[in-house]
Amino acid sequence: MSEGAADTITIPVEQQWQELREGVRRICEDFPNDYWVKLDHESAYPTEFVNALTEAGYLAALIPEEYGGSGLPLSAACAILETIHEQGCNAAACHAQMYTMGTVLRHGSEEQKRKYLPGIASGELRLQAFGVTEPTTGSDTTQLKTRAEKKGDRYIVTGQKVWTSRAMQSDLMLLLARTTPADQVHKRSEGLSVFIVDLREAKGNGLELRKIDAMVNHNTCEVFIDNLEIPAENLIGEEGKGFRYIVDSMNAERILIASECLGDARFFIRRATDYARERVVFGRPIGQNQGIQFPIARAYAETVAASLVVAKAAALFEAGRDCGAEANMGKLLASEAAWHAGEACMQTFGGFAFAREYGIERKWRETRLYQIAPISTNLILAYIGQHVLRMPRSY
Ligand SMILES: Cc1cc2nc3c(=O)[nH]c(=O)nc-3n(C[C@H](O)[C@H](O)[C@H](O)COP(=O)(O)OP(=O)(O)OC[C@H]3O[C@@H](n4cnc5c(N)ncnc54)[C@H](O)[C@@H]3O)c2cc1C
Repeated sequence: MSEGAADTITIPVEQQWQELREGVRRICEDFPNDYWVKLDHESAYPTEFVNALTEAGYLAALIPEEYGGSGLPLSAACAILETIHEQGCNAAACHAQMYTMGTVLRHGSEEQKRKYLPGIASGELRLQAFGVTEPTTGSDTTQLKTRAEKKGDRYIVTGQKVWTSRAMQSDLMLLLARTTPADQVHKRSEGLSVFIVDLREAKGNGLELRKIDAMVNHNTCEVFIDNLEIPAENLIGEEGKGFRYIVDSMNAERILIASECLGDARFFIRRATDYARERVVFGRPIGQNQGIQFPIARAYAETVAASLVVAKAAALFEAGRDCGAEANMGKLLASEAAWHAGEACMQTFGGFAFAREYGIERKWRETRLYQIAPISTNLILAYIGQHVLRMPRSY
């Protein structure tokens, strides 16, 4: 693990960015469980919720002031997302709007930044879709098959993506595609490029979407691409360096996702402890039974531990230092703490956990995702085994 200034965290993590957390909490109060149950039922996008957070400026937190945002550090975005989840809401769309633009910010040209970032900051433009995963190659990203060939001032793209969340609701999508055939590159991570696709123009002109009926309401789609034309000026950074750009942004994404997990864990723990104190069976509160109390206490301890690793990862990231190990471990630990807290909460509520009006089963389904997406637990363990513990590469 890296050592240094980031090791001296003196403020309890959940007390950092208090004012920001308070503001987000107030907005979340207007979006109670009923709102999310209805969306879930209709498989609908949280338009009003996203609008409220956009108008208050929270979704532009990471965009520099010169492009219309507030230029806050990553830990502020963590606090926003954690609070949203802690309050029982879901930040998937917010997370995407806050973070997907990072690739444009870090690797885009000045012209691209001026063209897109102010619109994203104001909410006028939705960049909430990121097309990486493909049906035949899955976690083996460097082997993806979607092909982009340059013809004059355009790229012609053909291929398929799967699990592309919010492609139906976004104006723009980032797309990872192969620009040099795999057998012509020296390293398997070479030859991939990132493009900005204007979905408003692309839909019906070489790009079709089909919604996936899924366990969680992420508005996820299959994307079919057939001779889609993308202007060459929509290439981000240099051709062939796309995989590096994506990897570059993965640590930030893991830290943000881990914060959502911590929020879920805190939600479950709060709900479970309240219920365990109130629910009386066999003449005493169920929380008096160690079988109910201990799993909640254990999940709490795991959450506190995970939050320290996530805070360290964010501090290292903000200091411009290597945070790969901490970002991966933080995401692993936080996703598991959230799941254990969810399990404890389900068990504490007993049959009532299954009643949608309590909001427990929805959160339980939602929090399960984080052990699989955006990266599955095994792949994180492989990272730790290989890059931190220097054991042989397993894939
Ligand atoms: C709701 C939802 C939203 C999503 N949103 C997006 C999105 O917006 N954009 C996007 O690009 N993708 C998205 N994804 C896709 C997600 O990132 C992938 O599902 C995830 O990366 C895993 O890939 P896969 O499903 O192809 O699993 P696979 O790669 O097929 O893996 C299946 C299982 O095998 C394990 N496995 C595979 N290889 C190894 C190995 N070498 N060692 C050990 N275990 C291994 C994995 O850990 C996993 O448990 C989303 C997925 C879901 C469910």
